[in-house]
Amino acid sequence: MTLVIGVLALQGDFAEHLAALQRLGVEGRDVHRPADLAGVAGLIIPGGESTTIGRLLERWELVEPIRAFAQSGRPIWGTCAGLILLAREVVAETRARYQPLLGLLDVVVRRNAFGSQRESFECDVLVEPLGLPPLRAVFIRAPLVETVGPTVEVLARLPDGAPVAVKQGHLIGTAFHPELTDDLRFHQWFCSLATKTANIQ
Ligand code: GLN
Repeated sequence: MTLVIGVLALQGDFAEHLAALQRLGVEGRDVHRPADLAGVAGLIIPGGESTTIGRLLERWELVEPIRAFAQSGRPIWGTCAGLILLAREVVAETRARYQPLLGLLDVVVRRNAFGSQRESFECDVLVEPLGLPPLRAVFIRAPLVETVGPTVEVLARLPDGAPVAVKQGHLIGTAFHPELTDDLRFHQWFCSLATKTANIQ
C-alpha cells in the first residue's frame, strides 16, 4: 500500500511541505475538506497564520474530523502556526480575540514570543530522534513553548533550554520550519512514524 501523507492546505506554507514529501518520494495530499483525510496515514499542519488557519478549519468543518483523525492514532505534526493550533492553550495576552484551537497537545504556547530583533532567526538544534548532525532550524515569528504536560517529551531545545520540538505520543510540534531547508530528515522521521501506525492498523 502506498503511504499518503496529508498536508493541511488552507493557508500558509503547505506547498513547501508537499515539495519536501515529493523529494522523499512520498505521496502528499493537500487537505481542504474532511473527505480528503480518507486514506491518509499522517497529517502535517503547516506554518502560516494560526488565527487564519483556525478560522478556516471551522469554516470548512475540519476541527472535529482532525480530532477524530488524532483519536484514530495516526500521527499529526504541526510546524510553527501548526504547533499553535495543536496546543491545549495559548497564553492569554498573545491569543487573538477569536482563535480556534484543536487543543490536542498538552502544551501552552506564547505566540510571536521572540522580540522584534529575533523575529526570524536560524540556529542548529539537536533533535533527539534525528541524531547528528544537528538540524538547521529556521524560526519565523515563532511561538515559545512555555509549559509542557507530564506526558510530553521534549525532542529539541534552544541553547537557553527553551523547548522547540515536542512529542506526545503520535502528536508532534516544532516551533521551527524543517520544510524550509534541504534537510529532509524530519519529514523522513515523520513518515516512518506514519508507516509504523499504518502497519499496526
Ligand atoms: N506568528 C504566527 C502565528 O502566530 C506563526 C508564524 C509561522 O507559522 N511561521 O500564527
